[in-house]
Amino acid sequence: MSYGGHDPNGYGVEDLVLLSTIDLKSVVQNLQLRFQKGRIYTYIGEVLVAVNPYRQLGIYEKSTVDQYKGREIYERAPHVFAIADAAYRSMKRFGRDSCIVISGESGAGKTETSKIIMKYLAAITNVRQQGEIERVKNVLLRSNCILEAFGCAKTTRNDNSSRFGKYMHINFDYDGDPVGGNISNYLLEKSRVVRQQEGERNFHVFYQLVNGGDDGLLRQFGLTKDAKQYYFLNQGQSHKVASINDSRDFAEVQTALRSIHTFDKQDVESMWSVIAGLIHLGNVRFIDGENSSGAVHIAEKAALQNAARCLNVTPDELAKSLSSQVVAAHGDIVKKQHDVNAAYYTRDALAKALYERLFSWMVSKVNEAISVQNSSRYSKSHVIGVLDIYGFEIFGTNSFEQLCINYCNEKLQQLFIELVLKQEQEEYEREGIKWVKIEYFNNKVICDLVEIPRTGILSILDEACASIGNVTDKVFLGELDKKLKSHKHYTSRNLKQSDKSMGFEEFKITHYAGDVTYSVMGFMDKNKDTLFQDLKRLLYHSKNRLVKSLFPDGSKSMAEVNRRPPTAGFLFKNSMSELVKQLAQKEPHYIRCIKPNEEKNSNVFDLERVEHQVRYLGLLENVRVRRAGFAHRMPYDRFVNRYKLICASTWPNPRRGQQLKDSCMQILESAGLAQDCVQGRTKIFIRSPQTVFRLEELRTEQLPN
Ligand code: ADP
Ligand code: MG
Repeated sequence: MSYGGHDPNGYGVEDLVLLSTIDLKSVVQNLQLRFQKGRIYTYIGEVLVAVNPYRQLGIYEKSTVDQYKGREIYERAPHVFAIADAAYRSMKRFGRDSCIVISGESGAGKTETSKIIMKYLAAITNVRQQGEIERVKNVLLRSNCILEAFGCAKTTRNDNSSRFGKYMHINFDYDGDPVGGNISNYLLEKSRVVRQQEGERNFHVFYQLVNGGDDGLLRQFGLTKDAKQYYFLNQGQSHKVASINDSRDFAEVQTALRSIHTFDKQDVESMWSVIAGLIHLGNVRFIDGENSSGAVHIAEKAALQNAARCLNVTPDELAKSLSSQVVAAHGDIVKKQHDVNAAYYTRDALAKALYERLFSWMVSKVNEAISVQNSSRYSKSHVIGVLDIYGFEIFGTNSFEQLCINYCNEKLQQLFIELVLKQEQEEYEREGIKWVKIEYFNNKVICDLVEIPRTGILSILDEACASIGNVTDKVFLGELDKKLKSHKHYTSRNLKQSDKSMGFEEFKITHYAGDVTYSVMGFMDKNKDTLFQDLKRLLYHSKNRLVKSLFPDGSKSMAEVNRRPPTAGFLFKNSMSELVKQLAQKEPHYIRCIKPNEEKNSNVFDLERVEHQVRYLGLLENVRVRRAGFAHRMPYDRFVNRYKLICASTWPNPRRGQQLKDSCMQILESAGLAQDCVQGRTKIFIRSPQTVFRLEELRTEQLPN
């Protein structure tokens, strides 16, 4: 057994609970020592801490899988396989749904970890090689590169940064084999389609097509191989990324698409056509018209024509929809000409909506391919969920998207606190166990700041978006200031003139993971997320079957569409609360990813950066609660029933009622394990996992073969 307080190999302790001093310094030093020795995994009880190694360690091979398969967590060195196996075993043995929540900031290794988990689960299941199960497994694994192509991009923090949240659950049948699954996606950062900051790129898929598409395909779409030519692809000035081979990835995506039966040939061709259409759309430019009507002209006729061709609409119709809008005013339908700004706004709104809907369609196609067939047979099947969602992030300029992303991380931290810190301590209190309360920062106050009705930021934003008249982003900021001026986690330049770290169009939130300054510019537009009906109608009438299917709402008449659609913030808030509800119903397993440095370097362990993460992830509190606490607990009757056979005085008839406690202690004493246990009101609390193993061993010895 590798679990022990000593450190004979000089690799540091495998469970932070075993440190002789529990403080920030010892925790970080231990992680550093292990990182330097290539031991990136460390436990806090059953929580796994994973430091991104930024190099291939060769620790995910078949031989390692075999070592972890079917083993208890503490039997082997800390590893993500052990967590995956624990989730799998608890599902299979006890029929519990479980979930694995992976958290950490951007670039900390969440997505890689989630892939390793999927591969592990695939490796240990379907030993009988059943055809249908093999198919499901393949789709689950293959779909990944498709979703990454469409949902990941190079940012300054991570070359393969997930720009959407993903919760994937897998259904297992009675035998523990995967029979299907489902992927939920959360808030894709669609603004990236039209705008990228310095040093960043658009979603990978665009570069894959341009670099990987063969000449015939590119000619068909009117594209060249030169990404620099395309405005939507080159704003960040970094269309080539050393760690990424776009054309190889293109081939991989193509293969994956071909292998998933729900994508037919026409689907795939249409999909690439839409991607090409978006690339061309970015090059459509507008200039002021000469006449007095104020109408705009389209400068790049070729780009317009190519875009129209790829989207299967007529260039005239596309031009009209980009440069004007039909509005209903007092019962009349009138045509309003756009100025240059409005035309660009319209173009970008079109690109964003098209891409977002395409992305959702891709996910739904994958889901179709892995949906559980023959539901009656599997109606009682169990589920393992894996959550890989965008990490906490701070950019040069932070906008609405960052607010949503960081709010999401607050919610997950809140869940962690609820499940790991709070409930644990409350149970000790309830059970009358002597306990020194451990203080921790509860971030509920920040969740509230964003989400509560009326005075939460999202509510104030919705209210601003719903009001008529000229409500600008700055007016919205004024409202925030008015309503939140006394909130401890909110400030703005107007409230704090002396703080020059903010501009007058910014506000700052003190998140659990640090201060983030948000620019309000664009908040209202992004929240309203309007796409003019003209554009929906245009695409609904596309001759491309896929494009048409993405815009069913384009069939509506003006009169039908007057109702205001729900805002982006509102939808996001709801999807978060739905997600948290889902997770809270399952047995949680936590993986806390840590980013060792900002340089993606396998040799650098930046103490300060790691210290910061350890602090805000609440790892220290986690260690303290865990150390003072108990690995296992069991109601007395269950305990006695399970172990009565290992003690002569309780076998075969243990005492009942009040005296169950006595029976329990008799068993423990006869096994010499009593000193590791404490009696609660209704449960026996067992400090270390070894005690449980020992009990299980003794029990097995007594069982008839
Ligand atoms: P996140 O999803 O948290 O933003 P990623 O999972 O995309 O971060 O990881 C960023 C990069 O770090 C990966 O592209 C990979 O190069 C490296 N990395 C992360 N985890 C591992 C690992 N376990 N082994 C090797 N490299 C890793
Ligand atoms: Mg990721």
